[in-house]
Amino acid sequence: MAKLYYRYGTMNCGKSTALIQVDYNYRERGMNTIIIKPGCDSKGDDKVISRLDVHRRADILASETDDLFTMVEDRIRDKEPVHCVLVDEAQFLTRMQADQLFKVAVILDIPVICYGLRTDFRMDGFPGSERLLLLAHSIEELKTICKCGRKAAANARKMNGRFIFRGKQLAIDGMDNVTYEALCAQCYYRYKRQAEQEME
Ligand SMILES: [Zn+2]
Repeated sequence: MAKLYYRYGTMNCGKSTALIQVDYNYRERGMNTIIIKPGCDSKGDDKVISRLDVHRRADILASETDDLFTMVEDRIRDKEPVHCVLVDEAQFLTRMQADQLFKVAVILDIPVICYGLRTDFRMDGFPGSERLLLLAHSIEELKTICKCGRKAAANARKMNGRFIFRGKQLAIDGMDNVTYEALCAQCYYRYKRQAEQEME
């Protein structure tokens, strides 16, 4: 039986690079993939972009109302078989779409590999990743390091170069003066305490 995989990691840990590599491996063997990207991630539009300067166009730019199970099912009915479904920025899926991808694995018997964040900049969950963490047959962490050398665990948000810990969940990297930095938990809470002290 095919499985649903959730490969999570912080910002800049190489998730999109890993996705593009897996896609390449399938295609090199003459197999077909479908790459899905949630539409609310406007970075790179319909492209999956790796920091290593490779990119690949997404086959499905999914809006919140899209039924991903039906869309994949329609594709295999119309065309050649699909050997793997790859999802970039999977934290932005809806809960329902995570369930639909689970069904792609168990009913259509196609492996689904989702790449995304585990928590947002406040250390809260995203609807998509919360559901994927519950449903996935396999959960793997893609690791990267904090600037202090410890394993990064948090996605700290910076606005105009300063760490901020309040705000809306969705703010795309590189837009509206927002950037992100992967920090270990110790550094995250140290910067958070500093920001709170400055507010007082
Ligand atoms: Zn650190």
